Amino acid sequence: MRIARFSAPGQDPAYGIVELAADGGDHPDTIAALTADPLAGPVNFTGVRHDLGQVRLLAPVIPRSKVVGVGRNYSAHAKELGNEVPESPLVFFKPNTTVIGPQDAIVRPTATNDLNFEGELAVVIGRICKQVPPERAAEVIFGYTIANDVTARDLQKAEPQWARGKGWDTFCPLGPWIVTHLGLDEAANLAITTTLDGQTQQDGNTDQMVFGIPELISFISSFTTLLPGDVILTGTPAGVGPMEPGQEVSITIEEIGTLTNTVVAEEQ
Ligand code: ZN
Repeated sequence: MRIARFSAPGQDPAYGIVELAADGGDHPDTIAALTADPLAGPVNFTGVRHDLGQVRLLAPVIPRSKVVGVGRNYSAHAKELGNEVPESPLVFFKPNTTVIGPQDAIVRPTATNDLNFEGELAVVIGRICKQVPPERAAEVIFGYTIANDVTARDLQKAEPQWARGKGWDTFCPLGPWIVTHLGLDEAANLAITTTLDGQTQQDGNTDQMVFGIPELISFISSFTTLLPGDVILTGTPAGVGPMEPGQEVSITIEEIGTLTNTVVAEEQ
């Protein structure tokens, strides 16, 4: 199942199930509206269906508390920035105010001269959990989506805390929807690519992660309670680089979809 948040013209945001023609069936791409937030409890269909092209997709989740990032979780990426692979996961937080949706603008702050994209598989947590053993990680996963862990690389390098380097508003595009039908084994072997104005920049696979999804969930939940809607960014493959105002960045993950955003300069 693909769960999206969307707004139809003149209506408040709602959740819906995306039904792609490519999956089979004699229909265009549509979205079937739900009565409520499926992360918060049981839902039903409202009976209303929209053409997917007629609605605006929003970030599929606005975390009620946190986005947890994982640094240097692909060895080739650690190496390209001159870093070692850490002995245990290197984690950081992005405030929930970093989250934006598909097609929303990434705002480049005037404080940075080196705004980077980082294409990443994102795990959406489905239930309150603490101290999850790796073998039970699947039980707390609601689904998977795509993230751009936007980073002001110069600020990240200059400051020992990454709050500014990773935490400006708009630094966490998420979407286009949450896929709930992938198992852990499938999520651990997905092609992931990032393009900038159509040119391939990152071309990796989630099987290159240093710490797998179960280990990440176990490590993170060992010190912080995870809540429904929390998001874990699982690290980025090699090939990160700068993006400039006016450029379009797209991240594609096999079996999930494509997340596209454009960069704009902060108003002076
Ligand atoms: Zn990252």
